[in-house]
Amino acid sequence: MTSLIRPEIGTLSEYHLTQYPHSIKLNQNENPYELPLPIKQEILDRLATARWSRYPAFIPGEQIDMLASFAGWVPEGTLLGNGSNDLLQLIFMAVLERGRTVVLSQPTFTLYKLLARGLGADVREVLMHPDLSFDVDGIIHAARASDASLIVLCSPNNPTGTLMAEQDVVRIIEQTEGLVVLDEAYVHFAPGSLRHLLKSSDRVVVLQTFSKAMGAAGLRFGYALTPVALARELNKIKLPYSVNIFTLIAAEVLMRRWPTLQQWIALLVNERERVASVLAKLPAVKVFPSSANFLLVELLERAPRDVFRALVDRGILIRDVSSYPMLQRCLRISTGTPEENDALLQALKEVL
Ligand code: PMP
Repeated sequence: MTSLIRPEIGTLSEYHLTQYPHSIKLNQNENPYELPLPIKQEILDRLATARWSRYPAFIPGEQIDMLASFAGWVPEGTLLGNGSNDLLQLIFMAVLERGRTVVLSQPTFTLYKLLARGLGADVREVLMHPDLSFDVDGIIHAARASDASLIVLCSPNNPTGTLMAEQDVVRIIEQTEGLVVLDEAYVHFAPGSLRHLLKSSDRVVVLQTFSKAMGAAGLRFGYALTPVALARELNKIKLPYSVNIFTLIAAEVLMRRWPTLQQWIALLVNERERVASVLAKLPAVKVFPSSANFLLVELLERAPRDVFRALVDRGILIRDVSSYPMLQRCLRISTGTPEENDALLQALKEVL
């Protein structure tokens, strides 16, 4: 049977994350704050009167319009997905195949490489500079040399937290010919989105999600902002009804309640900076600047695996990213509530 599977899939390993027992979870860059009960109740009340027996609208126009004005783009170029992963897969499937190339900066979100390899595409990886800033010239050079069909830029980048400057993104768009996907999953924690680049280029896609700042990773809701002509092509192979009525209703409520919910952001950014400054004072620890809701930490003496384990023993789950390119000495820590962060810092003081 496995001989029926395409060979490029046979060589892949599964995207997997072990969830060790824990009381504090700082390993997936989720929002530590749960939606207030009155908001959940509003969603549940609307669900109670919705028709579960019927398919969602073929094109959920109302939600698309609402999302387009929420995200600041035109409805004809706004695509909804079952998480932004769903839309990454759609875009990759539309652009990549055997014989085509994608350029990735490394280290970055692991799913890009997995999806591209599963499609049989060539993956050109450009390492970041030693200070973990983007090698913009390297990306441009790799894309031009390989005639890349796709360039994926993650900004702020997971797992480094690095932001790519607008002029660098513009330079990449102008000096290359592939489709440039700008994954802005963590944009709410950064100074701003680069979605306005959609106005001046027809080769840019911006991806955003409700899984991080919006506090709704469990809902599975992400969206792509794309040039209108590209949206028309992507819609041809997009699965119908990939976003269910629960999520559509919840997303609508969250967008309306966003002015209240976004108070989370200032809190989390403050906490990120507070945690960074305490971590920086710990022995043999280097903290990289971050524009996201997590911090990348380099351990100059201890093995990341040992520190990760010692924290697991204390009920604190962070992410061991030491298997990522360039990050052999690193751990990634999501920003939690002040109490969770205090517990993490206390545990690290004991462990290090
Ligand atoms: N892009 C990046 C950079 C991410 O870190 C993640 C989540 N880990 C995603 C996309 C996927 O998010 P979603 O929950 O919207 O599928």
